[in-house]
Amino acid sequence: MFIGELRQDIKNLTGVGKKTREDYAKLGISTLCDLISTTPRGYEDRSHRICIGRQNDDDGCWTNTFVKVESVSEFGAGRKNTKIIVRDTENNRKAFLMGFNRPYLSKTVFPGGFYHLYANVTVYGTGLTSSQFELKAVREEDLIAGDMLLDQGILPVYPLSGTLTQKSFRRDMKAALALAGRIDDEIPQPLMEKYRLMPLDSAFREIHFPTSDKTLTEARRSLAFREVFYLQLDAKRRPPVERKRRAMPESIHAAETDFIKKLPFELTDDQVKVLQEIRHDMSGAESMSRLLQGDVGSGKTLVAWISALHAICEGAQVAFMAPTELLARQHAQVADALFQGTGVSVAFLNGEVHGKPRQLLLDQLKAGNIDLLIGTHALFSKDVEYRNLRYVIIDEQHRFGVEQRRALLEKGIDPDVLLMTATPIPRTLALTVFGNLNVSTIKTMPKGRLPVITYLVDGPKRDKMYEAVGVEMKRGHQAYFVYPRIDDEGNSDLRDVQTMYEFLSTKKYPEFRGTLIHSRLPEDDKIRILNDFSAGKLDFLVSTSVVEVGIDVPNATCMVVEHSENFGLSALHQLRGRVGRSSLQSWCFLAYEDTITEDGKKRLSVLRRTNDGFEIAEEDLKIRGPGELSGLRQSGFLHLKYADLEKDVSMMSMARDEVDRILASDPGLISLENSVIRQVLASR
Ligand code: ADP
Ligand code: MG
Repeated sequence: MFIGELRQDIKNLTGVGKKTREDYAKLGISTLCDLISTTPRGYEDRSHRICIGRQNDDDGCWTNTFVKVESVSEFGAGRKNTKIIVRDTENNRKAFLMGFNRPYLSKTVFPGGFYHLYANVTVYGTGLTSSQFELKAVREEDLIAGDMLLDQGILPVYPLSGTLTQKSFRRDMKAALALAGRIDDEIPQPLMEKYRLMPLDSAFREIHFPTSDKTLTEARRSLAFREVFYLQLDAKRRPPVERKRRAMPESIHAAETDFIKKLPFELTDDQVKVLQEIRHDMSGAESMSRLLQGDVGSGKTLVAWISALHAICEGAQVAFMAPTELLARQHAQVADALFQGTGVSVAFLNGEVHGKPRQLLLDQLKAGNIDLLIGTHALFSKDVEYRNLRYVIIDEQHRFGVEQRRALLEKGIDPDVLLMTATPIPRTLALTVFGNLNVSTIKTMPKGRLPVITYLVDGPKRDKMYEAVGVEMKRGHQAYFVYPRIDDEGNSDLRDVQTMYEFLSTKKYPEFRGTLIHSRLPEDDKIRILNDFSAGKLDFLVSTSVVEVGIDVPNATCMVVEHSENFGLSALHQLRGRVGRSSLQSWCFLAYEDTITEDGKKRLSVLRRTNDGFEIAEEDLKIRGPGELSGLRQSGFLHLKYADLEKDVSMMSMARDEVDRILASDPGLISLENSVIRQVLASR
């Protein structure tokens, strides 16, 4: 049987009663398939001895050893707690075991006895202590056979709920695997052989009860391949969503042409091309689902406004969602100015709009008097109702989870969707992750932009850097100084915003106006500061990476990042994108400490070499896996059970290629070797 066909209720398992069944239900588990498809959230490696005190080195903090008990005592109110002092029989190290709420321990553990100890031991004060431990009595003579007794293999650790315990979960899992019988493979045999995949039946057994690290890795690889393979297959085979409403015409409206004509610059070729692509999608029989990627400052947001106007001309309402308050507000200001005199009504909504003003706004929205609503996730709050939401734009889409995106989409009737990102997703990933999504890319920067010149700055060169920034400020330009932390939390190794602000404003630039800004400031203060900076009332900003997100001040020409070795390449690239936003020459100074490694320097030099965000993202991917991109995973952007965006990039593209090849040569999946795929799909 296929795993998906194991639909028997888990109550068929011995030991699973009504209560246990409810506990499992809370974890979304009700069938054998659900249970077996639950991945352990980790493993306890009990396959070899780890003595007390070893937790300071690479073995982590788990101890798996034999001990002799020195004393057992009760303490605390009602003597409910038990304290046990033990010594490792091998290295004689002592540990304090604190059995909180485990009064029975004093009745079952005896001084002088020998025990197998499995515990999470931590350093506490000068001693070693554990409150998470298991003790099992052994006979002294058995200690000679020591290691064999210790070898309990690698045990799975599951998510729990209610009265479930690791022990009961493991027991039920074993029972489920026994009851399941043989689990059939789902990948065509030739591919199983080509990629040397472990048969699914063994893979499921190994993922729960691994025989070794190596087999566990193999099992995960096999399960991950199957997962990605079917993810791709589904994406490619999914029937397009037919519009419930009339599509918009592809032709451009006079209002759009006017709007574009009034801009103080020409659109870039890429902008024009993307606008065509969007209009084309909007006129299609299926609703648009498009990802717009482009480097910071490449003019994505402007494209969004123009495409919004296209929809508004067709009587549609448009929602534009940004990930932070600050960005949303800035976008609203820009849009307000841009749409001045066009008859388009723009409104801003965030969580802080309350009471009467909010009601007024919501009434207007419901009545259809607001064309373009800009805001944070407040845009999909319960009480927000649109009259005719047909176009949804999501800025920095990777910062939103799947659920949040869906919540907003549900406010409309199959709205067209434009996702924007400045975190370039390497092609390899984009193709895999967005199998069914169209991707537009803005490659060229607006005309007249000079590439930002980037310098790597070490200790002795700092003075020159300060001097250069001073020269720029004297010319009336502005500068950002970015530090990794807000204040000196007793760690004098890292420069921080507070200390450096003092230093810069008194020692280096007493004649210039600067201020500090960081995430702990009240939202209003941040907005005021950024407005002042934007209006040229401030010469320099000293900040944490809050400036990373979308701040647009064309007159700023210097970006100084300290401890740049501590930032990811993509994050640095984003920071650098805050300058070079006009025809002025801009500079980026990446300062680092002497402690930097050779690899670290090599990494930074990528930024000196190129201004191309895509190349940088690919480099980042090569050097350390999709560091920034793992944000994609954290935000629930993809719900992968086995495959890992960081580790499995190449496997993903292999699986994708195989799916493409199969669907191209055998779209009906009728060949003998592909019949297994057809059967799997039919069994669902
Ligand atoms: P992104 O959203 O990709 O970071 P924006 O749309 O915010 O980029 O554009 C960055 C800046 O460049 C804005 O000040 C915008 O007005 C300006 N801009 C956009 N398109 C052009 C263009 N074709 N030529 C010159 N400047 C442009
Ligand atoms: Mg932007």
